[in-house]
Amino acid sequence: MPDLNQQIAENVSRVRERMADAAHRSGRDIRSVRLVAVTKYVGADEARALLAAGCYELGESRPQELWKKSGLVTDAAVRWHLIGHLQRNKVRRTLSSVELIHSGDSLRLLEMIDAEAARDGTTAEVLLEVNISGDPDKHGFAPDQMSGALPAIAQLPHVKVLGLMAMAARGTDCATARADFGCLRSLRDRLHDLRVPGISLEELSMGMSGDFETAIEEGATIVRVGKALFSGVQP
Ligand SMILES: *Cc1c(COP(=O)(O)O)cnc(C)c1O
Repeated sequence: MPDLNQQIAENVSRVRERMADAAHRSGRDIRSVRLVAVTKYVGADEARALLAAGCYELGESRPQELWKKSGLVTDAAVRWHLIGHLQRNKVRRTLSSVELIHSGDSLRLLEMIDAEAARDGTTAEVLLEVNISGDPDKHGFAPDQMSGALPAIAQLPHVKVLGLMAMAARGTDCATARADFGCLRSLRDRLHDLRVPGISLEELSMGMSGDFETAIEEGATIVRVGKALFSGVQP
């Protein structure tokens, strides 16, 4: 079995090459797309191997797992992203360890984030999660709720919105994923035209192992990749 660091370094460079090719195909600068390496399937050793391979932005979908791993992987350069649902009673503990919350999925949650960030004297950076495929099992704002929600979100002084996040419909082919990503981007463009003060919509977090190239072609600025970084690695 190849050395863990070596295997992960190879996987990382393959993913980065595929990202660069997708950016090139769509006439985009690869520096405009960030890789968040999702560590939810692996332990602290694999996360450290990602750091050794130059991936410093790590993502977890469960708050407790993020707390745990951020305690184990303490390199000062690591930046943690929460990419899954955040329960309101877990906001306080999460804010101190996270760089960006991708899963700002309701006004109630954002109000709680605002209150806790205010207590800490900080501002929390978030993306607004949109349930672009309309899947009843998914969290997120409905696309047609967004223009109504933005002014209220803009009133939260300790929440800084940087963009939108979505997942393509589960188990679908590339054509459907492309349509979902295209919808998120055009929603972003329409919301951007509303020019709500204090709301930035530069970031589009979309694309996972099965569809990150399509997402980049459709305008992703952040891709969240797990499985593809761990092929050949024993769990
Ligand atoms: C697990 C997860 C990912 C990564 O998925 P892979 O298919 O392993 O690349 C991305 N985004 C979210 C929200 C996830 O939960």
